[in-house]
Amino acid sequence: MSTPSGTRLGRSRPRAAWHLATVADVRPETPTAVRLTLEVPGWPGSEAGAHLDLRLTAPDGYQASRSYSIASSTPEGDVVLAVDELPDGEVSPFLVHEVRSGDQLEVHGPLGSFFVWRPGESDRPVQLVAGGSGVVPLYAIAAAHGASGDTAPLRLLYSVRRPDDVFFADELAALDGPAFALDVVYTRQAPDGWTAPVGRLDKAALAASTIPASQRPRVYVCGSTRFVETIAGWLQELGHSPTDIRTERFGGL
Ligand SMILES: Cc1cc2nc3c(=O)[nH]c(=O)nc-3n(C[C@H](O)[C@H](O)[C@H](O)COP(=O)(O)OP(=O)(O)OC[C@H]3O[C@@H](n4cnc5c(N)ncnc54)[C@H](O)[C@@H]3O)c2cc1C
Repeated sequence: MSTPSGTRLGRSRPRAAWHLATVADVRPETPTAVRLTLEVPGWPGSEAGAHLDLRLTAPDGYQASRSYSIASSTPEGDVVLAVDELPDGEVSPFLVHEVRSGDQLEVHGPLGSFFVWRPGESDRPVQLVAGGSGVVPLYAIAAAHGASGDTAPLRLLYSVRRPDDVFFADELAALDGPAFALDVVYTRQAPDGWTAPVGRLDKAALAASTIPASQRPRVYVCGSTRFVETIAGWLQELGHSPTDIRTERFGGL
C-alpha cells in the first residue's frame, strides 16, 4: 500500500528530482569503461537496481541525455556509475574520455521501481543474469544483498568477453559468502587455467549455471536488448514464469 507522498508502509522511497552533480573521481573500470563517482548534494539515495538520467549540455545549448544504472545503493554517500564506451555513440565516449574530477553533470533520479531489489522483501532465491555492462545494476543488488545480511540465496551469472572486461571485479570477489555465488562465462577469452568452455552463453550453460525454475527464483536480467531478450526467452523455455523475470534493456540490437 502506498500513500500519495510515495511512502510505503514503514519505508519511504527516494523521490526523483534533478540534481547538479560534481564529479569526485574518475577511474578506469575496464579497458573500455570508466567508473564515475559523483557528489550529489540533496541526493536521497537509491534502491538497488535503480538508474538515473544524465544530461549533457553543449556550449551551443544542444542537450543529450542517457540512462545509467546506479552502482551504489545507499541512502547516504556518493553516487557511483560505470559507463562503457560505444565507440560510435554520442554520450558514452564523452563520459569515458572527456569527463574529469571537478566537472559538473546534471542528473535526474533515482528512477525505476520495478527493476529493484529490496532487502527482506522475499525469502525466495534471487538469480541475476548480466551481459557486459548490464552487470552494473546487478552488482548494486548483489552488494545491497550482502550488506543487508538477507539470507535468501543470490546467484549472479555474468557473461563477459574477457577477464579484463569484468566490472567491479574486486568488489564481486569480496562478496563471496554462503548466500552469494558468482558464475562467469567468458565469451572470447578466459583466464589462464580456466577449464569451462569459452564462448557465447547458450541455453544449456544458462540452465547449468542458474537456480532451477523448480526453486522459483526471482530473476533479474540486464544487458543489451538482444542479450536480455534471448536470456528471457530461454528462461521461460526452462520453466521460469514470465512474472518471475524482470528485465532491463540497455539498448542496441
Ligand atoms: C535503464 C538503463 C540503464 C543503463 N545503464 C547503463 C550503465 O550502467 N552503463 C552503461 O555503460 N550503459 C548503460 N545504459 C546504456 C546507456 O543509456 C546508453 O545507451 C549508452 O551509454 C550508449 O549511449 P551513446 O550516446 O554513447 O550511444 P548512442 O549514440 O545512443 O548509440 C550509438 C549506437 O549504439 C547503439 N546502442 C545503444 N546502446 C547500446 C547498447 N547498450 N549496446 C549496444 N549498442 C547500443 C545504438 O542503437 C546506436 O546505433 C543504460 C540504459 C538504460 C535504458
